[in-house]
Amino acid sequence: MKASILVIGDELLGGRCRDTNSGWLCRCCSSLGVEVVEIRSGPDDADWISRAISDMAEACDLLLVTGGLGPTPDDLTREGLSRFLSDPLLLDDEAMSWLESFFADANLEMGSTQSRLAMRPSTARCFRNHVGTAPAILSEHDGTAIWLLPGPPVELRDAWERHVCVWLAERGVSDQPVKPVTIRCFGLIEASMEERLGSLVSRSNKPLAGTRISGGEFHLHLEPCGVDQSAMDDCVARARQMLHPYDFGQGSETLASVVGELLRARGERLSTAESCTSGLISSAMVDIPGSSEWFCGGWVVYSNQMKQSCLGVPEDLIDSVGAVSREVVESLAKNAIASSGSQWSIAVSGIAGPDGGTPQKPVGTVWIACHGPGMECQRRFRFRGDRAIVRQRATAASLQLLRWCLDGEDPMTPMSWDAC
Ligand code: AMP
Ligand code: MG
Repeated sequence: MKASILVIGDELLGGRCRDTNSGWLCRCCSSLGVEVVEIRSGPDDADWISRAISDMAEACDLLLVTGGLGPTPDDLTREGLSRFLSDPLLLDDEAMSWLESFFADANLEMGSTQSRLAMRPSTARCFRNHVGTAPAILSEHDGTAIWLLPGPPVELRDAWERHVCVWLAERGVSDQPVKPVTIRCFGLIEASMEERLGSLVSRSNKPLAGTRISGGEFHLHLEPCGVDQSAMDDCVARARQMLHPYDFGQGSETLASVVGELLRARGERLSTAESCTSGLISSAMVDIPGSSEWFCGGWVVYSNQMKQSCLGVPEDLIDSVGAVSREVVESLAKNAIASSGSQWSIAVSGIAGPDGGTPQKPVGTVWIACHGPGMECQRRFRFRGDRAIVRQRATAASLQLLRWCLDGEDPMTPMSWDAC
């Protein structure tokens, strides 16, 4: 089944309201194996809406329209559908009774404009809105189902689950299709990752592969496009082999959640000593439910004085090699283990910028140490980007380093941001 999505509202075109509905609907369709072929957005203008419906309905079996179903004069999606169908709007008595009971239950007076909400083209059907007022409307025209759905996201979700999903299930759309998979990686730039994938990312392949960079991570998305579960599983396994050891998880897994799971399985705990990331790593750890089982805590040792007083880094060491150095992160990591009783530690010290760089240690230089049972690893990186990016990449690199150590991978596996 092919679907198209049409989002309506002057506020979307004016940038006053961000369109979250189309992305949400795309994910819903994808999880049901329904292919989205087009997304369009446009104004609260009945003629434009009518033309867009006419255009889009030709190329899909399911046209999902959101927005413009409210009671105000600028809500014209009903009129757009009516114009496209050449079918006048009439008052739906049942929809009117839903509205009357909604206003009576809320102890509100029903204004005269509200009755517009119960209007529908004569050949269409209304579906009750259980969280707001505007009913959804379904019109089946020349083999295409056109659903008008409310714009407010909570109402859209309710209408989708209560009405559209049921309607789709009645038409044999399974809620157990082959699901798309996103493989998440960190450590190499996009071009290097794509190179590893070779012909797997060819546009003629099924499953269809798509790649993107998000927060420095490389994501490979595999859309089934009609293949069966075993072909999908084979493709995922092949892709993970090609991306190894940079691939750390799938779907909603994060570097922090994967690291947490590895620590939990080993019955071991982590502590952190953070200078330039100042809490980003420990925050990522504590974002994971159950982190108290494997995360002891950490030190934000931003100043040299704190590095000395909290974690005993010798003053003369900092004076001789500088705070951003192999020796200082090594000392921080060692002392974090000694002071916390954890088996593992991560220490980070770097120059996030925009000031503070030198020719020997330019902005973006970050030293990361990872210590654990039988493991002491120090690496120097040079991250490009602004202060926020340097701190964020340093956090991800630290977690990837720890993951490699916990997983028995070589912690010196090259990354695109290695500095000698
Ligand atoms: P409407 O049905 O056009 O009256 O929309 C009512 C409200 O729903 C708007 O003011 C927005 O707050 C919200 N809304 C409408 N369309 C979208 C959309 N595409 N994404 C997110 N919110 C939306
Ligand atoms: Mg509107």
